[in-house]
Amino acid sequence: MTKQFRYIITSMLVIGLLSLSIIYPLQANSIPSEGKKTDSLDLKINQIIDRIDQELIVGFLSDLVSFGPRMTGTYACQKAGEYIKQKFESFNLLTSTQIWTSFGNRYNPRWFSGFNVIGTLPGKNPDSTLELVFNAHYDSVKVSPGADDDGSGVAAVLAAASVLSEFEFSHTIHFVCFSGEEQGLLGSKAYGDWLYETNKDKAIIDFNADGIGYSNSETTNNFRLWGTEDVSWLMDEISQLNDEYNIDFELDKRTLPEEGRGGSDYHSFVRYGFDSIAFFEGAWNPHWHSKDDTIENMDLPYLTRTTELISISLAWISDNPLSYPYVYIESPHKGMFYFEGREQKPVKDGSNQEKRTIIFDDIWIWAQVFIDESLIEKVEFYVRGKLQETDTEPPYNYHLNKISFFKQRVEVVAYGVDGQTSMDWMDIFFLNLRRRD
Ligand SMILES: [Zn+2]
Repeated sequence: MTKQFRYIITSMLVIGLLSLSIIYPLQANSIPSEGKKTDSLDLKINQIIDRIDQELIVGFLSDLVSFGPRMTGTYACQKAGEYIKQKFESFNLLTSTQIWTSFGNRYNPRWFSGFNVIGTLPGKNPDSTLELVFNAHYDSVKVSPGADDDGSGVAAVLAAASVLSEFEFSHTIHFVCFSGEEQGLLGSKAYGDWLYETNKDKAIIDFNADGIGYSNSETTNNFRLWGTEDVSWLMDEISQLNDEYNIDFELDKRTLPEEGRGGSDYHSFVRYGFDSIAFFEGAWNPHWHSKDDTIENMDLPYLTRTTELISISLAWISDNPLSYPYVYIESPHKGMFYFEGREQKPVKDGSNQEKRTIIFDDIWIWAQVFIDESLIEKVEFYVRGKLQETDTEPPYNYHLNKISFFKQRVEVVAYGVDGQTSMDWMDIFFLNLRRRD
């Protein structure tokens, strides 16, 4: 080969590569973005359903159960947590642990410690104002293999994490496994506290799976969804996905009691005003908290379907813009003491009870709404259920200046232009002896 010939060949190669790299992005851009998005989400959902199968789920479930009863504080529980961490790492998620120490509930009045495992799939939209959490608890009670409670939820989180991590989504998804659930939602409380302290600019929607793998002969088509009122629109979307992709459950949708002492980790989100949907099997499992909570006593095809529905719902919400209002009381901060309008210090409560907020003298209430401002009609401020002020311009605020000697409930309601609403609330001990200007 002559030098000249080699030169010509090399030039042609370089020109060829350059033109490919120019043409290729042009072609990608020429696809109408609207059509591409729906198509690809539909395609993703179909692929997710294909990839989530019984074998994948049972693999995770048998590994978890093999550690023995996973009571918080035991070696088995620690091993299970380490196993989940390794799995998240193998799915290339941003993986971390959150160590917590907390005093148990009245049935377990002593100190416990453990760690939560968090695997994050970062969203690709840098302007996103929404983050999703999918959680389950990996601890069990003392005698129980905890296959359904809550091996089923953890297996679903792992299956969803392994499959969804193969795709890209707009919003960030956190896959989170808690311990300490059985002693009073201890792990999730620590996570909820941390989220409330650190998250300032995102709407949070949590999916909670606790016991999603058991059915009796009559409930193979029943699945329960308990969600906060603000995400009832999302429960309707989940119903549609359930029909559209032939998962075919009969869904029993209920509104979560806003402050009811929650039976599962969703409560640690709801107590701070974050939204949550809790998923439960159609019939309560009679083997729960006993040595018979085994894989043999579960309905594995049922668990596969419940995992599929939760996973595609997560994919759907993670790839759609937040078109419903999501309001959040930014200030005052729950758990703080205020004097003359200024934040002084945290209120010590020495237990895991609800955070107390104490306010002396008048104060400004600030609300943040996560949605395009043009889609917000107004924000209303209520005290003890009575409307005090309507604000139509951001930043939304209200000067709380009533005479007060005791506990008050402050509620903020945001209205979207299509009439959708979102509410946040807080209870305050409010002492204000005279009105100020
Ligand atoms: Zn449980």
